[in-house]
Order: sequence, then structure tokens, then C-alpha cells
Amino acid sequence: MTYDPNNIFARILRGEIPNKTAYEDDYVLAFHDINPQTPTHVLVIPKGPYVSFADFSAKASDAEILGFFRAVGKVAKDLGADESGYRVLANHGRDAHQEVPHFHVHIFAGVNLGRMIKPTDR
Ligand code: 5GP
Repeated sequence: MTYDPNNIFARILRGEIPNKTAYEDDYVLAFHDINPQTPTHVLVIPKGPYVSFADFSAKASDAEILGFFRAVGKVAKDLGADESGYRVLANHGRDAHQEVPHFHVHIFAGVNLGRMIKPTDR
């Protein structure tokens, strides 16, 4: 799948669509999800053009991968979720219902998240 430079997160990165920023550095932008599923629901995206987890893990540089995952940990800590706990989730492709084709992880926190996930029929 080729990267669509007009996907919604690319437009957020270019400042064409506003966002509620939680954190930003050379490698990532973290912002609050527009439709939060938990009291705290933040998305972390790399600044590079990667479609999905598969694309990012295969093609991103060591520095981008390091910068990304260090930032995810920092954002979760800064949100105050280290002690109570949080969940990091990345949806890749159809079965995971990935909606936006720019790699991102969700950080869910602020509530007891239950154990893991429940698969459903398509
Ligand atoms: P996915 O299903 O691709 O893993 O999740 C995409 C997430 O992006 C969804 O939770 C959705 O609410 C969020 N989202 C979609 N469009 C926007 C937007 O324009 N702004 C923000 N902040 N979040 C968005």
C-alpha cells in the first residue's frame, strides 16, 4: 500500500487540521483522539510517511523507531498513567479496523481497561 499524503494525520502534521497536542518532538506528534474511547485517549504518530505498523517496523530508521517508542513512553508518563496503568495499541489493516493509513499507536488510560480484547464477527 502506498502512502497517501492527504490522509487525515498527514494533514494534521502539516497543520491543515487543528489538533489538541499532548507532545511533539523531531520524531513524533502526540495528540488527543477526536473520539476518545477512554477518559484519556492519545494518539502518537511518527512524522515520517508510514502507512501502518508493518510499514514503520520494516522501513523506518533505527533513530525513528527509537525516537517513536521513547516518545510513547514519555507521553504515557506525562499523562500521569504510569502508576494506574495504560494500554498501547496499534491497529494494522482490515481485521484490526485500521481507519487512518498513517501509522499510529493509541494510548488508553484513566479507567480500568479490562483484560485484552474481544474478537467479533466482521
Ligand atoms: P484506527 O482505527 O485507525 O486505529 O484509529 C484512528 C483514530 O483516529 C480513531 O480513534 C479516530 O477517532 C481518530 N481520528 C480520526 N480523525 C481524527 C481527527 O481528525 N483528529 C483526531 N484528533 N483524531 C482523529
